[in-house]
Amino acid sequence: MLQAVEFATPKVFMRYDELQAYDPESESWQKQFARRYTHHAQLNGVLNHVEDVNETVYNKFAIAVTPYMAKLMDRDDPNCPIRMQYLPSFHEETKPGFATMLDQLGEEGDTIPGTSIVHRYPRRVLFLVSNTCATLCRFCTRKRMVSQPSGSVHKDEIEASIDYIANNKNIEDVLLSGGDPLTFTDERLDEILGMIRTRAPHVRFLRIGSRMVVQLPTRVTPELCAVLERHRVQMVNIHINHPKEITPLLRKRVKMLQKAGIMMGLQTVCLKGVNDSVEVMRELFMQTVEMGVRPYYVYSTDMVEGAHHFIVPHRRMLELYEGLRGWISGPAVPTFIVDGLGGLGKLPIIPSYVREEALPDGSGTTVKCRNYAGKTVEMPGLGQDFSLPSVSN
Ligand SMILES: *Cc1c(COP(=O)(O)O)cnc(C)c1O
Ligand code: SF4
Repeated sequence: MLQAVEFATPKVFMRYDELQAYDPESESWQKQFARRYTHHAQLNGVLNHVEDVNETVYNKFAIAVTPYMAKLMDRDDPNCPIRMQYLPSFHEETKPGFATMLDQLGEEGDTIPGTSIVHRYPRRVLFLVSNTCATLCRFCTRKRMVSQPSGSVHKDEIEASIDYIANNKNIEDVLLSGGDPLTFTDERLDEILGMIRTRAPHVRFLRIGSRMVVQLPTRVTPELCAVLERHRVQMVNIHINHPKEITPLLRKRVKMLQKAGIMMGLQTVCLKGVNDSVEVMRELFMQTVEMGVRPYYVYSTDMVEGAHHFIVPHRRMLELYEGLRGWISGPAVPTFIVDGLGGLGKLPIIPSYVREEALPDGSGTTVKCRNYAGKTVEMPGLGQDFSLPSVSN
């Protein structure tokens, strides 16, 4: 009898009052995971004005929303920054030119055959361990793999990946991502991290990218923290795009990770209608540094199928950066990044504040400087090389 209750599939909350009464801390993360919404029609009872999208959007990318995340959505506003990130829209119907760009970053070309390792940069690798996330972002850059029902990358591939890391002594940094590595059980994570640490002592830096901390904060438990601490995971990068995603529960669970000695970083995707405003970004990054989380990267939306309506033009990203640098605390200012098509990799988007120019008389160069507020100064001395001839005795 008891067992039947314990293992029954938990129900999805179809009514607004049921969802509001739900306390995400009242049950395990696995149970909440099983209560996820997987069709927009299921959200009709808890939100108003849910767009009735064509079922074909599901052929390209599934929907999944945790009840915790659904509770954060504005009941009436379809432009709620959280709703926009997670609910499908008619804009997802294919846009010419984007139709086949499911691997726009060329990750498959840099994947080591038989493994799930993307080895693009010197000395570090991206290890895609999981095929799924707690809540699926409509702009996901890895749609090609994240929407799979299988949940985790094949066991053989994981083992071959660990062999690769163990056999390549020049790898000093491993970044676990996916999907979301925290969709694994503590036992499985313990096993994978343990294998990396024992078989690849040359790995100096071990980090995890996870949005589950934000989408289902109760995933962070003392047991998980113990696993991460045991295997010396030095950094966890979380992904937040709007201050509305920061809650007291999230703060509590981030604190738990920090107490386990983990350095916390933030990744953000620059999304039209969600956070393409200086005010929103200032607030987001100040709230994250307040939590002791360091803003790391702001990515431009990748040119993945069904995400074109989120793309913020490059020139606007420069303006957003200029609205941060100098105007808020330095540690709250992340690096803006565009990931080059076809495997070019991460490229910083940085406005030019300091420029070297040739002097009109051809006698050398001068350096023209502009500060955050638009004041300028010229520093001709910086155009010269003052090194002195070495003194011989
Ligand atoms: C982003 C990324 C990394 C990590 O890059 P850092 O700039 O060191 O954070 C590594 N490999 C791949 C393929 C990546 O996309
Ligand atoms: S959390 Fe990251 S990997 Fe997961 S769906 Fe969102 S963008 Fe994709």
